[in-house]
Parts: sequence; structure tokens; C-alpha cells
Amino acid sequence: MFSIARRISDIIQSAERKNIFDIHFDPIGNECKIRFRQDGVLRTVDSFPIALYPAVIARLKRGVPRFSVSAIPVFDFEKIILTFQNVPKKRSFEDIGFRTEQIAGIRKILGTDGICIVSGPIGSGKSTTIDMMSHMLKKDFGGVTELAVTSNFRDVGNVQTRGIVMHNVRSAEAIACVVHAGLSGHAIVVEMNQPIDVDQHIVENIVSGVIYQKFIRILCSDCKVRDTNDTKFFMSRGCAACNQSGYIGRMPILEMSDPHTPTMKEDALIRAHDGQTSLAEVLRVCYG
Ligand SMILES: [Zn+2]
Repeated sequence: MFSIARRISDIIQSAERKNIFDIHFDPIGNECKIRFRQDGVLRTVDSFPIALYPAVIARLKRGVPRFSVSAIPVFDFEKIILTFQNVPKKRSFEDIGFRTEQIAGIRKILGTDGICIVSGPIGSGKSTTIDMMSHMLKKDFGGVTELAVTSNFRDVGNVQTRGIVMHNVRSAEAIACVVHAGLSGHAIVVEMNQPIDVDQHIVENIVSGVIYQKFIRILCSDCKVRDTNDTKFFMSRGCAACNQSGYIGRMPILEMSDPHTPTMKEDALIRAHDGQTSLAEVLRVCYG
């Protein structure tokens, strides 16, 4: 007999075996598509008839061990996303895949008073980069204080450490607060998802650095071969190890204000020359 609980548990076990951290249940037309997010790309792996979807939702909402369950309304239904709760944490800039000159550039920025803006699309790994910067401030620059975006001038004035970290800065008040702190001699790392609206002269005087980043997928080492169109580069055909996607894992590509570091396109091309990613992936991420 068809059992929804059994089918869902099979899907989750399959995701866990493949190191998938996000499972999407998407009601689309006459069916509910089951999609795995792997290395930032969603791929359909299974589907249910839509008539079964209410029962699927009901089952998922009772909770799934090791996963958090979130629901997003779409038309007549809700889309459900399961997110694995124990995604392994990377420990250093080298672990994430930063280049030596990029790490040196970040060290120089953190040694300078002012604001360092870390930006990039949602899901480009900004938080991880900032965690690493926070760690560097703690270890090598006399400590760091994490401030909430709701902080006021007084909170910033009371900070005893030279390093300050603020996530997801977007309100005018928070920006004013950061600018004020930047004028008072701290190294401040701020995460921003959108451009700031502050007087250009102030920005020039208090911004110590800008880091813009995206993710690029890493070629699967099991099925990687020379690119048949251009043998300087590599490509992959897909295999069981990479779930036929040709890629396993992602690394950041960055562009920094430091003139000694490559531009984002150069960074991506260096990765392709090194055989870490494909030319097709460079085109998708940098020119797509
Ligand atoms: Zn493979």
C-alpha cells in the first residue's frame, strides 16, 4: 500500500546520503515536485500527484528529525522547504577557498580603521566570510563586538573592541550608526544586500574596503575531464558521486577594493584554469 510517511522518509534518507541540505516540496500544476538544492542549484528528483499534497504537508508539518520545516504560501497551496540543521561549518578562509592574496587583502582592510562593506547576492556566502573576518579580528586585532542592526549611537560609542561586526545592514538609522562608528576609529565589518545611500564624501573617507562575492560550483573530481572545446579547461559529464550534476561543493569568487587582488571575472577564470571549475560555470556565474 502507498504510504506517504514511507515515501517522505525515503526522500529524506536519499537527501541525507547525497549531502543535500535543502529539500523543496513545490506544488506546480498537477503535481508536487520534490527538488533538492545542491550547490545552489535546484534539481527535481521526484514528484507526487497534487491530490496527495495536503497529506504530504500535514505529515511534514508534524516535524522532521534533524530538519527545520518552513512553509511559504504560493497560490492555493504552501510550498514547504526542509533545511538540514547541522550543516558542517567551515573553519578558515583557506577552507572556504580564498586565495592567499585575498586573505592578505582582507587582513590589510581589517588593520585599517573604517567600514568594510561585504556584499553580494542572497546566498553567496557573505555570512561565512564575515564569520571568518570576525574570527581574524578576534585573533589578530584585539577583539570584536557583534552589534545588532537595531543598535543606536550610544551602543556603538560604548564598544570597547576595535573590531565591530554588523549583519544585514539596510535601514537608514543603522547606516547612520555605522557611518558614525566609522568616524570614531573602529574596524567595522558590515554585511549589505543593497547599495547604501550616504554622502559620497563621507563614504570615501570612511570606507576601508569593499568585498563583493558570489559562489561558483566546484567540478566533481570523479568525472572531471579535459574540455573537448578548449583543452586548457576542464568539464565534467556527471556521475553517481555528484548526482549527475558534474559538480560537488562551491567556492566563493570575489572582487575586492584592494588593487593587488584579481577582479571577480579574473578570479573565476583562474579557478577554471586551475581545473576547479568549468568555463561553462564561469559564464553562468559571471556573465549569466
Ligand atoms: Zn561526478
